Amino acid sequence: MLNKPRPNPYWRCISLKSKTCISKRKQTVFMPLQQNGKWYLRRVWDIIRSMSDNNLANIKSAVIKMIDTEKGSLEELSLKLHANPELGYQEYKAVEWLCEYLSRHNFSIERNTGGLKTAFKATFGQGKPVIGFLAEYDALPQLGHACGHNLIATAAAGAAVAARLAAKLYGGTVCLIGTPAEELSGGKIQMVEKGVFKELEAALIAHPGNDDIATTQALACVTLNVEYFGKESHAAAHPDKGINALDAIVLAYTSLNSLRQHIEPGARIHGIITDGGKAANIVPGHSAGTFLIRSQTLPYLRELMDRVLDCFKSAAQATGARLEYRFDKSIYAPMNNNMALANLYVTNMDMLGRKTLLEDPEMNFGSTDMGNVSQIVPSLHGYYSITRKEVSGHTEEFASAACSSNGIKGALDAAKAMAMTAADLLGNPANLDKVRTEFQKSTRPSA
Ligand SMILES: [Zn+2]
Ligand SMILES: [Zn+2]
Repeated sequence: MLNKPRPNPYWRCISLKSKTCISKRKQTVFMPLQQNGKWYLRRVWDIIRSMSDNNLANIKSAVIKMIDTEKGSLEELSLKLHANPELGYQEYKAVEWLCEYLSRHNFSIERNTGGLKTAFKATFGQGKPVIGFLAEYDALPQLGHACGHNLIATAAAGAAVAARLAAKLYGGTVCLIGTPAEELSGGKIQMVEKGVFKELEAALIAHPGNDDIATTQALACVTLNVEYFGKESHAAAHPDKGINALDAIVLAYTSLNSLRQHIEPGARIHGIITDGGKAANIVPGHSAGTFLIRSQTLPYLRELMDRVLDCFKSAAQATGARLEYRFDKSIYAPMNNNMALANLYVTNMDMLGRKTLLEDPEMNFGSTDMGNVSQIVPSLHGYYSITRKEVSGHTEEFASAACSSNGIKGALDAAKAMAMTAADLLGNPANLDKVRTEFQKSTRPSA
């Protein structure tokens, strides 16, 4: 019994504000508890055990407190990731630091998950249900963490550590799945194919942005690389002997422009010409381009892939140039937002004083490999604001925001909201049923 939390050889005060303490020896987290006007320091686990079984409000306060206690370590982790940007499939340092942090909090670690060297899985608890937090940690060439994936990793780590409290009280498992190369080639797509996410009842991720929104509008997307092979000749002396590969790709580009006017709203076709010849006085013998095709559904994406290919084939026929093409094997699926999960997240963000929208009124479209996860597991892909509305992702200004105090605060709030959402699922079977039922309906063939 103590009159107030006080220094002790085995305790050090982590936060003067919260007066939460941690044992130096065992890293056990203590919280102050007032009873009959006197202060006690009690182990968090003991407090959790003494709570009534369904007291979600108490567990949510404990979750918030746990992340406040971890603030210093999480901020340090986030800034370290930001200062050491690594491209997709090369995120070795990030994986090391994240695994070190999670094993310090008694998670068991599996490396090379799904056969990817920079993927991992950290697990705490036993049995079902299994709730997964997903981390991304890849950066962009030249720009570093201009998509703020250092913050995604931080929020997932914080959420996983705090959600242990709910797993301990209610039973079940929480895990953090480290997913590489979101920007480069959709690491999650390969992990889906390897069955990594199958055991999850829900997958939760939160991305930094410039608004607080609980869902994401992500389109199905595929990359098409094309090349035309013609025949070089002197452009003035012997144009009759040449086959113009540049003409072929320009014709195809013009056909795509015509096609664009007659496709479903929400679908997108865009691309660039990456090779148009070597010199103005040589009939180009080679041309190349990269194009992206996007749509709101996978069946319509496949239909569009055929129509786009027809544009390239007809240009080959018109010019006599030979066409070679390759659709990327990784097809991004559209995001299937689970609204039951999104509603829980909104309520929890609101509790933290962050007014969060259920949907983006501006319907900003992109594509993410989280879409593929959302087709097999009920998924949440929220956004939290770290900067002004005008600042776009993938810019230097966004990279600065990703290591600012606003950035860290956003990640910690998202961690709290995600951990509280996990508590909602583990602590109240009705919530989980709602999430499951909606998911089953949304993935029926007729849906
Ligand atoms: Zn990005
Ligand atoms: Zn991103």
